[in-house]
Amino acid sequence: MKAGLVDPAGRMLESAVYDTPADSTPGTVVTHMTEVIGEVARAAGIGVEMIDAVGVGVPGLIDSPTGVVRACVNLKDWHHVPLRDMLRDATGKPVIVDNDANAAAFGEFTVALQQSPELEHLALITLGTGVGAGVVLNRLVFHGGGGLAGEVGHMVVVPDGHLCACGQRGCLEQYCSATAIIRDATELIATGKRSLLAQTLGTGEAITTRHVFAAAANGDRMADKLIHDAARYLSIACINLCRVIDLQMIVLGGGVANAGEALLAPVRRAFEDQTWGIEGACEPTIGLSQLGNDAGYIGAAALAHAMLSHGA
Ligand SMILES: [Zn+2]
Repeated sequence: MKAGLVDPAGRMLESAVYDTPADSTPGTVVTHMTEVIGEVARAAGIGVEMIDAVGVGVPGLIDSPTGVVRACVNLKDWHHVPLRDMLRDATGKPVIVDNDANAAAFGEFTVALQQSPELEHLALITLGTGVGAGVVLNRLVFHGGGGLAGEVGHMVVVPDGHLCACGQRGCLEQYCSATAIIRDATELIATGKRSLLAQTLGTGEAITTRHVFAAAANGDRMADKLIHDAARYLSIACINLCRVIDLQMIVLGGGVANAGEALLAPVRRAFEDQTWGIEGACEPTIGLSQLGNDAGYIGAAALAHAMLSHGA
């Protein structure tokens, strides 16, 4: 559980990381969240009464208009929990609840908007253990009909491809998440491919994407191909996404994005190769996350600030 005190300009004044209580029933977690809000305020040297509103990003399926957590990935007994109302009653503050990836996308949007005042449409794709994503359209988080919009990680990029935990086959997540890259690395090594990564595995150390990037930087062809393949599938998803909703910016985050230019350059090149050649058509700016691990709570705070500004 990460908490941050953020000012209206999106500057983080204080932050902290807390363990989720072992008893993760909704009532206990809400009590803990209320304490955490007080602790962060105290650490920043302000009174809790100075906090205008609370924004929450939850890794799960959220009904954002009502702030109800329909299901939560890490908290198994959370089904149809009215988190917004519970936290509002506990804190006396206006509360907004959204999916954590949506909150992070809004955080990246808020910071990018300060640099590009014309920005209206952005997607954040977070390449970690899985692939999380959020889409901001017309300067608002886009939720879609059932609250599941923006799940770029489950865009199908390979017909009859790897089975995904979501039930589909060939999802992007199965080709460019850290889990997918390590799966492919391990499989290739098992077939006897020569690679610096085989030496790493030989020492008994588990392979991480960090090892893959380091090996690629040292000229390892297998590692280089793993990154190249991940970037290729990511490019397909990015182009498809832009052809549907004409984004101005795509932000890549998460551990796999630490590959930096090795990942960005192929995606940019794919847009150059697949250009429409229509006069006035804009291709998106492809960039790396500016907020990193802070995007979730800075974005949740920005959502809360926007809620107050809109008089909700
Ligand atoms: Zn999937």
